[in-house]
Amino acid sequence: MKPRGRLDLPARMSDAPTRRVLDALTTSGIAVRFVGGCVRNAVLKREIDDIDLAVDKPPETVMRALEEAKIKAIPTGLKHGTVTAIADRGRFELTTLRRDVETDGRRATVAFTDDWLEDAGRRDFTFNALYADADGTLYDPFDGRADLAAGRVRFIGDPDLRIAEDRLRVLRFFRFHAWYGRPPFDGPGFDACRRNAAALGGLSGERVAKELLRTLEASASADAVEGMTEVGALDHWLPEYTNTKCLRALIAREDKPEALRRLAAILPAGADATAIGKRLKLSTQESMRLDVMLAHEPAIDIAGGPRAWRAQIYDLGNGLYVDRLLLAVDAPGDWRAALAMARSWTPPELPVSGGDALKLGLKPGPKVGALLEAVECWWIAGDFSADRAACLAELERLTHAA
Ligand code: ATP
Ligand code: MG
Repeated sequence: MKPRGRLDLPARMSDAPTRRVLDALTTSGIAVRFVGGCVRNAVLKREIDDIDLAVDKPPETVMRALEEAKIKAIPTGLKHGTVTAIADRGRFELTTLRRDVETDGRRATVAFTDDWLEDAGRRDFTFNALYADADGTLYDPFDGRADLAAGRVRFIGDPDLRIAEDRLRVLRFFRFHAWYGRPPFDGPGFDACRRNAAALGGLSGERVAKELLRTLEASASADAVEGMTEVGALDHWLPEYTNTKCLRALIAREDKPEALRRLAAILPAGADATAIGKRLKLSTQESMRLDVMLAHEPAIDIAGGPRAWRAQIYDLGNGLYVDRLLLAVDAPGDWRAALAMARSWTPPELPVSGGDALKLGLKPGPKVGALLEAVECWWIAGDFSADRAACLAELERLTHAA
């Protein structure tokens, strides 16, 4: 693979922990290069999440080299050639150069190689096959930088063949378009996605969810989602999909992307969050949050002003209220002020408890709960202004009235 220019390495790729890992490998005669996302983002001068390194020796050799340099090495996936190095809290994924021996559309059987071009050729898109040496020498075997500059997500090789090897690449095409593309979609890639979308059902929910949620996190996610539905890529995994109207409005409102909230934005109110959560292997907590976001009730009352906001923040909790508020894109009222309230106001605790009811002579049982609930309703209706003495008086009044 021939050098094709130079890269100014950002701090994250030239700091002391990174140097330590690179030095440990090269001292042991292992050739190592940055690869994939970190090089792509360094070219774009975008933030770098994690550092992937490609190495030309088998994982056992890599483990030994790290251990000799007293760097913690985790055998993340020896069969696939992946070792994780931990140096001064920095994490590095080291993967041995590979070529595909067999593919079945879901998983590949790989063999290790020392041929950089072979390794590059099994990657998905041209700009994901960028490599850089520790001194910034850049390798770009498929003209990925030109595609990056043009906002073009281009498959390496024949898109249909590449998708047949791994169907997940249909979703990755849209994910990378959302982050790095500009309209229109790359024609040959898009058409191949359309021809192959029907086969996505065979994938695992985890892998699909990861791609889908990362797609949603991008600022251009709405266009990508529309492309996905146009080719039928959501038919199996998200048949509940409605449209991107709410998503677009949500993106304009929120100051920090939240993938799960954006997922809710492309689903209809009342959709079965439990079923969706199971299908996409969401955690129980995520499914529950989705459930609240998709529930018909309570309708978010923004026009009702501060009293209504406080009552609903108390009811839902600050976090879920923010979710519901941001998603209520058609509700009239000053949503910005409601949001500011949800971010700054801590709901108080009801100043009376079951113990107070018992002190009034009530016996433990459902009646106590019902009375407390009545006091709570009265207290909320009074905009939480009643203090403990007033709440106790109300409790007493209701107890005698009952
Ligand atoms: P991100 O910053 O979003 O993590 P990334 O490029 O690091 O972007 P990953 O999904 O972490 O994306 O994959 C790392 C690299 O591995 C990719 O850049 C690509 O070269 C290769 N890769 C990952 N998944 C596939 C796949 N399904 N088919 C082909 N190559 C893949
Ligand atoms: Mg990555």
